[in-house]
Amino acid sequence: MSGLPNPGRALVIGLARSGHAAAVLLHRRGWQVVAVDSAPVEAGDLRAAGIEVRAPSDEAVPADLVIRSPGVPQGSAPLAAAYATGTPVWSEIELASRAMPNPVMGVTGTNGKTTTTVLLAHLLREGGLDAVACGNVGTPMSGLVGQVPADRWLVVECSSFQLEDSPTLHPRAAVLLNVTPDHMDRYPDLDAYRRAKTNLFANQGPGDLAIVPEGLDVPGGAAVHRVADGPDPGPAAVAWAEGGLHVRGLGRVAAWQDIPLYGAHNRQNVMAAAAMAAHAGVGAGDIARALATFPGVPHRLEVVGAAGGVTFVNDSKATNPAAAIAALDAYPQRVRLIAGGSSKGTPFDALARAAHGPVDHAYLIGETGPDLAAALTACGIPCTVLPDLATAVGRAAREAVPGDVVLLAPACASFDQFAGYEERGEAFRRAALEHGAG
Ligand code: ADP
Repeated sequence: MSGLPNPGRALVIGLARSGHAAAVLLHRRGWQVVAVDSAPVEAGDLRAAGIEVRAPSDEAVPADLVIRSPGVPQGSAPLAAAYATGTPVWSEIELASRAMPNPVMGVTGTNGKTTTTVLLAHLLREGGLDAVACGNVGTPMSGLVGQVPADRWLVVECSSFQLEDSPTLHPRAAVLLNVTPDHMDRYPDLDAYRRAKTNLFANQGPGDLAIVPEGLDVPGGAAVHRVADGPDPGPAAVAWAEGGLHVRGLGRVAAWQDIPLYGAHNRQNVMAAAAMAAHAGVGAGDIARALATFPGVPHRLEVVGAAGGVTFVNDSKATNPAAAIAALDAYPQRVRLIAGGSSKGTPFDALARAAHGPVDHAYLIGETGPDLAAALTACGIPCTVLPDLATAVGRAAREAVPGDVVLLAPACASFDQFAGYEERGEAFRRAALEHGAG
């Protein structure tokens, strides 16, 4: 905990969950807080508490500290003004980690963050440690300041945006699960996106655990470790798959068939979470028991039901091509794929290549439906472009035969037709139930 400076004037940009929590925390600590959001926000409670809530304007807001929400792009006017004047700009995670002494574990990556974060908190708790999942996963870290015992582990899901402005964040164990193209509407190139993610490791020291994908080096003083999905793990492996899950120092921990998470991508998530739990002192028996009882996370390869031998799988959180490719890897054959949504500027050719084989037919919806259809058709995959998700589920359910999997793995964001991926996943669940799945 590096502490907060003496109270002054703070500008909080963005008032979704984390900005709201940051504004409340600073106000409680005696700061004079101005909060801005370009969308109309309720924030009645903030106003009632004496926090000034404004729409952004060209008028500069003088501030000694700026808290930037993850949704606020680098180039936005108030941020640019703060950087230009040398005013400190922090993420909400930076603010919270300065204000609380708790040990932190950090999870980042393009895909798998929430699954790994929730799983790791579960492993720690089942191992008898006090732990909570927070950050991007839904509970802002700032909301925990003063509310939790000082020894509770904070397992923090960190987006690249939050890591851009977290100069003192110091996780005892941290993982970068993977980096594939995503958010290319927010970064100039993949390198910039990768650099933001590797900030997670910058303050680590020799006693800390850093888990990083093969071929990538990161800043900071911790030795770099890998998870290895194969029998020949190499000296840097901290966990590996060899007929079962192995963790360095613990030996063989569990058989893969006893772990209810499917696909090679989930093996990586499991290996990382298990190695991080072991780093905190959780033993092999507790890890094995906790893995076997992990309930999974909704909207991530979630089986919502089956009807007439057809299984309906909701992977609405597959909001980029790499996540959809991972879903196809978990279901390698007879897939009726429902994909499409709003565009994040990522190409679909890799997805189309991965779909060739597993996918019998693709039902494509939303803004990106036509682009996806072009990419998949070029790989010889039969496609139908349809107006919406309910129609696509109906069509896929009618055309499916026993043994098929109707998989929602959109490869795109949801905002063209839904408020978010959760709403899209719930719409899929309802439509599947209407077609008898249960
Ligand atoms: P995030 O929080 O990073 O978005 P989630 O755990 O919510 O990650 O999973 C997002 C999507 O990515 C889901 O569709 C899931 O099936 C897929 N996924 C999960 N773990 C991985 C991984 N390690 N590699 C690739 N895809 C993954």
